[in-house]
Amino acid sequence: MSANGQLMDKRRLELYRKRLLERRDQLLDAVSRSEQDGRQADEEPAQDLADKASNAYTKEFLFKKSNDDRFILHLIQEALDRMGNGGYGVCVACGGEMQQKRLDAVPWARHCIECQEKQEQGLLQ
Ligand SMILES: [Zn+2]
Repeated sequence: MSANGQLMDKRRLELYRKRLLERRDQLLDAVSRSEQDGRQADEEPAQDLADKASNAYTKEFLFKKSNDDRFILHLIQEALDRMGNGGYGVCVACGGEMQQKRLDAVPWARHCIECQEKQEQGLLQ
């Protein structure tokens, strides 16, 4: 298969789509659950300073986690959009074809392995 616009094997594409949708459902679930937990932490009357501190810690943890979840949700939505317009499996940075093992590990990845490494080293922008 070449990188010049040929479609990815349809069965493989459907497999990734299924994994993306499953992950999206899990994340939507987790995000709404951590929002609920955050509200509960607000409603629980804190008895003393230690309680207040652990309450704040819990909220911060939930907030950060749900931010990460939201970011992945965003990447998943982008990947589904790329599936819709035939751009799935193509690196958004170099336009090259994504390695299968890269998509197997992270189906919502935007970058191929080389570009991901460059990005982690701060060489890509
Ligand atoms: Zn690339």
